[in-house]
Amino acid sequence: ILQLAGVCKAFGDAEVLHGIDLAVERGEVVAVLGPSGSGKTTLLRCANLLEHADAGELALDGAHFDLARVTAKEAAEIRRNTAFVFQSYNLFRNRTVLGNVTEGLVVAHRMPKDEAREIAVRCLERVGMADRLDAYPVQLSGGQQQRVAIARAMATSPKVVYFDEPTSALDPELTVEVLGVMRDLAQDGMTMVVVTHEMGFARNVADRVVFMEHGVVQAEAPAREFFDHPANERVRAFLDTIR
Ligand code: ATP
Repeated sequence: ILQLAGVCKAFGDAEVLHGIDLAVERGEVVAVLGPSGSGKTTLLRCANLLEHADAGELALDGAHFDLARVTAKEAAEIRRNTAFVFQSYNLFRNRTVLGNVTEGLVVAHRMPKDEAREIAVRCLERVGMADRLDAYPVQLSGGQQQRVAIARAMATSPKVVYFDEPTSALDPELTVEVLGVMRDLAQDGMTMVVVTHEMGFARNVADRVVFMEHGVVQAEAPAREFFDHPANERVRAFLDTIR
């Protein structure tokens, strides 16, 4: 459903992505792993146009785009069909839980308010936040805020959801609750690309692991195989650092 090919990105003289290829099947969960600074976040941001790629192609459910030259109309189409969950939640601080989820539906998807509300409540139920519809983000724990952010991402029925280290700002117990929600989504067949340092999630929930280092994909394998039979020295060295 998603294909990235030849994605390149430099910040000034620093080349961060050197021609990344990544293909994701419908319903697949792909974990993107790699050491700090390897370009994982930048890859997701380029795929979702939060960052402008210098080169690269994107195919999304049969539609093709040149990432270096997307028109405004194409950008809107890409954004309408994907969603992004940030490390720092990025909720609207001046909107309630319900307002955070309905906003995108009403504004970007031009949905009538009552229909948006119905969908938002359903999504908030799925992440266990339906009893806090009128709360503001500051009144919630980090884990609750992230679950609202996940409900917001799901609400627009995206074809792909990108997660950028969704639990790295959270305490261990809140991490568990957010990973639980992500596992449920995965089991429901959501297509997910997840940059994470949570090896348990990568191993037990992801279908496939993509390992990046220095802006290239160093290895790629079904999740179990990635951990149990490291493809090369680089993967082994990485796994040793986190064990
Ligand atoms: P981490 O696991 O630490 O988040 P990462 O693999 O996600 O790392 P990126 O955040 O993609 O790595 O960063 C890759 C490199 O690009 C880093 O060296 C970083 O300093 C650099 N970089 C990222 N964003 C910018 C920016 N906006 N301007 C300049 N350099 C940047």
